[in-house]
Amino acid sequence: MPRSFPASIVQVAVPTPLHGHFDYLPPTQGPLPTVGARVRVPFGRRRVVGLVVGHGQTSDLPEGRLKHIEAVLDETPLLDTPLLNLLRWAADYYHHSLGDVISTALPNNLRQGKAAMARGIERYRLTQAGQATAPDTLTRAPRQASVLHRLQTHPEGLTLEQLRADQDSEPRPALKALIDKGLVASHHQPCLEPPRVERPDAPVLNEAQQLAVSRITASLGGFTCHLLEGVTGSGKTEVYLHAIEQVLERGLQCLVLVPEIALTPQLLERFRQRLNTPIAVLHSSLNEGERHCAWLSARSGEAGVIIGTRSAVFVPWARPGLVIVDEEHDSSLKQQEGFRYHARDLAVMRGHREAVPVVLGSATPSLESLGNVERGQYQRIELPGRAGGAVAPRLKVLDVRQQFMDEGLSTALLDAMQRHLEADGQVLLFLNRRGFAPALICHDCGWVADCHRCDARMTWHAGARRLRCHHCGHETGIPVRCPSCGSALAPRGQGTERIEQALHKHFPQYPAIRIDRDSTRRKGSLESALEGVREGRYRILVGTQMLAKGHDFPNVTLAAILDADQGLFSVDFRAVERLAQTIIQVAGRSGRALRAGEVMIQTHQPDHPLLSSLLGGGYTAFARTALTERREAALPPYASLALLRAEAADAQAPLAFLEKARDHLQSLSPPGIHPWGPAPAPMERRAGRYRAHLLLHAPRRQDLQQALTPWLPELTRLPGARQVRWSIDVDPVDLT
Ligand code: ADP
Ligand code: ZN
Ligand code: ZN
Repeated sequence: MPRSFPASIVQVAVPTPLHGHFDYLPPTQGPLPTVGARVRVPFGRRRVVGLVVGHGQTSDLPEGRLKHIEAVLDETPLLDTPLLNLLRWAADYYHHSLGDVISTALPNNLRQGKAAMARGIERYRLTQAGQATAPDTLTRAPRQASVLHRLQTHPEGLTLEQLRADQDSEPRPALKALIDKGLVASHHQPCLEPPRVERPDAPVLNEAQQLAVSRITASLGGFTCHLLEGVTGSGKTEVYLHAIEQVLERGLQCLVLVPEIALTPQLLERFRQRLNTPIAVLHSSLNEGERHCAWLSARSGEAGVIIGTRSAVFVPWARPGLVIVDEEHDSSLKQQEGFRYHARDLAVMRGHREAVPVVLGSATPSLESLGNVERGQYQRIELPGRAGGAVAPRLKVLDVRQQFMDEGLSTALLDAMQRHLEADGQVLLFLNRRGFAPALICHDCGWVADCHRCDARMTWHAGARRLRCHHCGHETGIPVRCPSCGSALAPRGQGTERIEQALHKHFPQYPAIRIDRDSTRRKGSLESALEGVREGRYRILVGTQMLAKGHDFPNVTLAAILDADQGLFSVDFRAVERLAQTIIQVAGRSGRALRAGEVMIQTHQPDHPLLSSLLGGGYTAFARTALTERREAALPPYASLALLRAEAADAQAPLAFLEKARDHLQSLSPPGIHPWGPAPAPMERRAGRYRAHLLLHAPRRQDLQQALTPWLPELTRLPGARQVRWSIDVDPVDLT
């Protein structure tokens, strides 16, 4: 029975997988910490940074067992109440611990208890004396010599963190010595670039764009969710920019979410050139100091625009104005591990709770969002044509059955490439498979190079001369002979590396470039490749998903999907939707300027109904057909799913645990829930662990939530729970 205490109990969320909050006594001195402030508390044998989420008069623990808060880290709330409530909602909806959810929302150094003060960024630069000093004159101070050398190659200056990243030891003492010698000086810079003084004129909006902007601005001050649909090049970004300007004029802030890959320097540059406000940028390759600074300037209201990837949906803001989610269909907006949230869905929820409009933009809206338009939840705004007079590309299916294929390229495609290259166009080839070949097999005995840790083939990487498993990262050398019969081995199938090689053979006079995760590992290499393409130094591009997103290639006149069959036969019910989106996105890369583009799709299934509807009526027709199929199969958006995953080194344990979990669910007899499975995961073994799934299906979202709430906490107590690692994924995107 709860007991009452004379003093308030402070409820603290602590980063731990355990759900709920933890009760503490106020600090022995000083005022009661406010809700939203960080505190340092003893937790088990550790001391951790937690966040105050409430005050109470009672606790389930006896007073003797309650501990005091050791230190209060914030005098004013770090997170305001609306944001804290959103995090609470997210923790409930995704059934994840509140402490972990709050942790996700904080930059690392705030999570660790650093002061929430924007100090700007300190940059170290050489003085004139430093520029004139040769590093090798500092022979007795090799660390100073190395810092000096680094700074000489970076005249713009480096932050301490940048220096730390490429020095073996802590650079601070060497830096201090160099400052004392007058060779280096530190410069304090505000953390956001000030807005540009000169801005280019904005293009005059066409009628559809004007209508879109006025519908968005008319909805400011309350919640509406707009779905802005328009092909690539239809001028969506221009609509965002005009809407943002109006929001800024009212003194409010805008939050813009984009997929990681779309947050390119070009997009940022376009925002910086056009908007008269400091812009806070948040993405994964920032260093700690930059992230801290950007986060705080969003929170203080100094940044008029906050632009970031997935986790930016949790950034605090002082004056909520407008939320924009660009490429809302993109699956990278869904976090796939740990706290498995969908940034688009949370953005809509945030807009709803903070009474600001939300704009979801896409050339290929997710079927979920189209379902919400159908139900009247979202307002659809369409941009019909291409802005600036560009012509839409023509789509064409290449039936490759019984055709001669050279390294995955049909004769018809090779001919078309020749034609476009001769006419000074660029050609883009899309293949969602990196490496040289997806399999290595023995032609004599049928031996295949399998990953010994996964149910998967090893991919042959020719450049690295390695076999790699794309599922667990396992690597080996390439065997010279078949380990089973000693015959020669042959690569089977094509990856982007092999296509690149074939291009050098077929089109030696036209420079080609490959763009995929392997070729762009080095920082900056993607940008320089994209620049080379835009400047026309490369005439042919071959690449993976990275090519399909957000980039502007005005001179690409032919785009080709090399293997559409990949997406037509997948166990994942969303694979076809993703294929259609990829085709339209890839098509969007072609003919963006005034030159008409052509798009070719190689397939063995030229009569596939979804492909036909896509070609006949575009993405809208495809979506209509696909939504009908989803409705008939009672799949999302016409039902809700939650996926309980379990994995273990033992082959039996995951299924056994999930069966117990299902039986327990059925004993609770929740209304409107259908457990599907358990069954082994489509790829049963990955990284040496066996995996199984239990999918919960519910026609109504509320029923699913009501079933999960009492059920999940019980799972840890089930027999076999300790033998497996399990997790719940609400609204799962990836079912493999
Ligand atoms: P999307 O975001 O839909 O791909 P953008 O806003 O990037 O489209 O527009 C594509 C190109 O057309 C850009 O170069 C942009 O500057 C230009 N553009 C957009 N709207 C107009 C307009 N109303 N008049 C002239 N050019 C425009
Ligand atoms: Zn063999
Ligand atoms: Zn593997």
